[in-house]
Amino acid sequence: MLAAIEAGGTKFICAVGGAHDDIWAQKTIPTSTPDETLSACARFFQDAQVRFGVITGLGIASFGPLDLTRSATYGSLLATPKSGWAGTNFAHYFGHQVGVRVALDTDVNAAVLAEARVGAARGARDAVYITVGTGIGVGVMSGGQLLHGTLHPELGHMPVPRAHGDEKFESQCPYHSDCVEGLASGPAIAMRASMPASILPSDHLAWQAEAYYLAQLCRTITLAYAPERIIIGGGVMAQKSLIGKVRREAERLIAGYVPVATRSGGMERYIVEPALGKISGLVGAFLLAQQNKPTGGR
Ligand code: ADP
Ligand code: ZN
Repeated sequence: MLAAIEAGGTKFICAVGGAHDDIWAQKTIPTSTPDETLSACARFFQDAQVRFGVITGLGIASFGPLDLTRSATYGSLLATPKSGWAGTNFAHYFGHQVGVRVALDTDVNAAVLAEARVGAARGARDAVYITVGTGIGVGVMSGGQLLHGTLHPELGHMPVPRAHGDEKFESQCPYHSDCVEGLASGPAIAMRASMPASILPSDHLAWQAEAYYLAQLCRTITLAYAPERIIIGGGVMAQKSLIGKVRREAERLIAGYVPVATRSGGMERYIVEPALGKISGLVGAFLLAQQNKPTGGR
């Protein structure tokens, strides 16, 4: 039996089963304090072991930033803005409480793993997953491996030139005055348009600036990693007209310099929606559990 957790800022989804498509039990636990949330997760897994047998591996797809270095601190949350959670070590905690080996990665790296194995980029060895929600996160698979470096990609914070007419907008990122997350996350859209992104009409001008910023991100991703597919998910992409605008802007910005999109079968097949939707993190966590080895580059 494998175990998986998708750890988010508002809820933890725990599951056990034979594989990502063979789930035997699942439970959603609110994210409160680390003590409360993690002990509820541990109880779920202990009960599952009584009901179904031994867990052979636990995969966790988590919000970050995470320490994934091959060191004593592997598996801990770094300076997360989520109050009280910095320093929480998932690998130690579940190692001791459930007696299981833990493989963890960022929610977006898990999502790109899932999409590349069983989703919208099935079979790809080079793929990138972007989530556009409360923040903007990027997961990268390069040559079949999830990319880490000494941390993990944080490309949501790459700098971007301002969209025409957006020069005076104040970035919503506390660290950067000019990053994609600060200018194009759900909260940034809401601030710019003075209404929540979820009710912003599809013909509102703010979507043009949004498409431009996401296209700049796709351009940099294309130049840096030359992936087979870029998958864009997250709550903001529920605005169905957005992905087409991003494709058109990305095509304009890449300006024919690299033939990646052509090689993938055109812009429609290069920049795509996720196939797994909201479950990509959990599916990725199962796949991490299956690999059953610590992730991370160093
Ligand atoms: P999180 O990033 O917190 O995990 P989501 O990926 O669900 O959460 O993203 C939440 C963001 O998505 C919010 O900023 C919300 O306004 C936005 N959102 C939700 N529904 C829609 C919609 N239909 N159209 C555009 N934006 C939406
Ligand atoms: Zn930033």
